[in-house]
Amino acid sequence: MENSSIPFIDLKGSRHDPRGQEILAEVGEVIDRGAFAGGEFVTRFEEDFAAFCRTRRALGVGSGTDALWLALRALGVGPGDDVITVPNSFIATAEAISACGARPVFVDVDEHTHTLDPRQLEPAITPRTKAIVPVHLYGQMADMDPIMAVARRHDLRVVEDACQAHGAEYKGRPAGSIGDAGCFSFYPSKNLGAWGEAGAVVTNDETVAERIARLRNHGQEERYRHSDIGWNARMDGIQAAVLRMKLKHLPGDNDARRAHARLYSELLADVDEVRVEAPADYGRPVYHLYVVRLPERDRILRGMAQRGIACAIHYPTPIHLQTAYRSLGLGAGSFPVAEKCAESVLSLPMAPGLSPGQIETVARVLKSLLPTAKNLRVAGA
Ligand SMILES: *Cc1c(COP(=O)(O)O)cnc(C)c1O
Repeated sequence: MENSSIPFIDLKGSRHDPRGQEILAEVGEVIDRGAFAGGEFVTRFEEDFAAFCRTRRALGVGSGTDALWLALRALGVGPGDDVITVPNSFIATAEAISACGARPVFVDVDEHTHTLDPRQLEPAITPRTKAIVPVHLYGQMADMDPIMAVARRHDLRVVEDACQAHGAEYKGRPAGSIGDAGCFSFYPSKNLGAWGEAGAVVTNDETVAERIARLRNHGQEERYRHSDIGWNARMDGIQAAVLRMKLKHLPGDNDARRAHARLYSELLADVDEVRVEAPADYGRPVYHLYVVRLPERDRILRGMAQRGIACAIHYPTPIHLQTAYRSLGLGAGSFPVAEKCAESVLSLPMAPGLSPGQIETVARVLKSLLPTAKNLRVAGA
């Protein structure tokens, strides 16, 4: 049996290549100046990241989860409020809502983009609804124009969960720059990954930015004067230095991901069982993940693993069916599209450093595992 050993993502960098050397030198500066928590390196990264997202402000925080929680709190979400989001995301999207004391209210997704279906939005709005959190899943943005139109009509805040969408665009506008705030994760596996944990909120609203700056630092206005009950959600200086160096390479890395996605889509276009979605015509995705849908997903996942190709599932259980959220009382069948996706999605290896040859191998092995391939072999035997 063929064994190709293709990792799902490749987190191991090298300290010795030019990129690694450049980052290490900058980390050395942080150490020499003792700028470990917040400080000048964080400020410099914030300036560069705001420019990248074309927003007035960026605030470095501890993680993507912190970013979502801080953005919601800064926009006034609290106990008694409902916040609308989607069930097919990483659980952090809902957790951040719950951590504000609010309740996540799910709506189903569009079956082609796997993102919030704007047609589901208006029927889900009640007097308790305070905000909407569309998730730009897999690196493709949600359909923001109709979402923003509904939000304006009902005076709702919009927080973009852009944790998988650094550099993605919607009608030429960068992820994070359209809603009242946009939230990013720099978890190591994300398109822009730290050497540890980190996140950011971007916004064009100075008042929101100032609130987040306070809340991430114990609600502190000046030393030991606290006007809000905040938290320690600061970005650390070493992560900021790493991220500022890596940000320079993000556009090129995203181009590489797009090229890989095009090749996958070409190679899989003629395979009936594999459903490959074309990117929505409103934007430019950044392929945090390359996801196909197919029957017998779990068997194929195992078969790929046996042949050395690491695939993954994002996500096997929608949030409304997680034990943590059983109190919402939402059973199977509540969100048919999200549930159907959860049963059939498969994420293929994706990283800027993959070679075209590796992508061809993945596609060839995937095809060899499909039911028709089996039938053909049987027929030919
Ligand atoms: C990664 C991720 C988060 C959480 O980010 P962390 O940095 O891990 O806290 C939130 N939402 C989505 C969609 C993510 O992919």
